[in-house]
Amino acid sequence: MQIKTLLNTVENFKSFVYKAVSFEVINGRKALVADIKPRVNAKPECSVCGKRASGYDTQPSRLYEYPPLWGFQVFFRYSPRRAACPVDGIHVERIPWSEGKEQMTTTYKVFLSRWAKRLSWKETAEIFKSSWDSVYRAVQFVVAYGLAHRDLENITEIGIDEIQVWSGHKYLTLVYQLDSHAKRLLWSGPERKAKTLLKFFMELGRERCLRIKFVCSDMWSPYLKVIAKKASQALNILDRFHIMKKFNEAIDQIRREEVKKLKDEGTDNVLEKSRWLLLKRPENLTEKQTVRLSQIVKINLSSIKAYLMREDFQRFWEYKYPAYADRFLENWITRTLKTNLEPMKKVAKMLRNHKQLILNWFKADGRLSSGTVEGFNLKAKLTMRKAYGYKSLECLQTALYHTLGNLPEPILTHRFCG
Ligand SMILES: [Zn+2]
Repeated sequence: MQIKTLLNTVENFKSFVYKAVSFEVINGRKALVADIKPRVNAKPECSVCGKRASGYDTQPSRLYEYPPLWGFQVFFRYSPRRAACPVDGIHVERIPWSEGKEQMTTTYKVFLSRWAKRLSWKETAEIFKSSWDSVYRAVQFVVAYGLAHRDLENITEIGIDEIQVWSGHKYLTLVYQLDSHAKRLLWSGPERKAKTLLKFFMELGRERCLRIKFVCSDMWSPYLKVIAKKASQALNILDRFHIMKKFNEAIDQIRREEVKKLKDEGTDNVLEKSRWLLLKRPENLTEKQTVRLSQIVKINLSSIKAYLMREDFQRFWEYKYPAYADRFLENWITRTLKTNLEPMKKVAKMLRNHKQLILNWFKADGRLSSGTVEGFNLKAKLTMRKAYGYKSLECLQTALYHTLGNLPEPILTHRFCG
């Protein structure tokens, strides 16, 4: 069987034919080159209007990279014609396997981007003897296609979250769709200001905004204001994940201060390396950690008090009726405000200020699981960590849409991988 037969099976272009396939040295390596010619009498397509026009002239041949075969790089070689369109003038013809001046075929871009979802971009580039920039361009192309072709109808549940990017105080706002039929990253934008979120709602459009029934968010007031304005019909829920995050931040602050205090006093530092003991839920601790925790619980430390207060608060989520939950919440807040643990008191005050929105959790009747937002948050952080070498915010956003956006891909006649 000839390689031409194989090519015709995986990708057949109506107005073009494969000619000879030969071994040639490209960039110092032996590669397979398939020559492509236009079919006899097939006129070039104008790249502006897409209509066929008469040929003007032919340009020098170009190489277009295709998915590799048995470890060899594969290239199409073609001399593009220029079409003389009566309407648009003279332009290089439109070709079905590639766009513009791009040296990678569309098929190869989809191929690379599929691998880039499983491996890091660096690894993908290494395996396929490509460059990091080419992998980025491939992912960018697939993401742009996906964003343009995705379905934005029937969005009824969304979650709003932010992640800290790089090491500074830069943030990225992320909006997820949480509907059971489509859980995905919908939108991302730099910073976490009111205008950031406003941009999301504007891009979504008024009609679609009005169809949103539930919005999960944290207590960040610029977000809350925008949600109330742009999706006033929706039930805004402060979800469990974001609330418990505040508890953990408070515990960690108390622990850090206490570690420092114990060190200054020269006391035996029992809290050292205890961070995860205190931040994890007891059921997630290993046996060894449980033993250690039971030892430090015996000592009267602020960190432990804060830890026990959080564990006590967990009961809040077990309630079925908002009225009972409300009573528990008030009781917890009152008790906490009597302590001398400032970071915990801050949490208590915050809970009181946002009580109505917090109690909305019970009105949603367990429809929204906080696990979804939490899961996305973890995946986003993982993508960012894998993103070692991401040069810009735009690049990181592309990576996030790529891994979390569940975007449609250009349709290919053959699936090369994954
Ligand atoms: Zn035209």
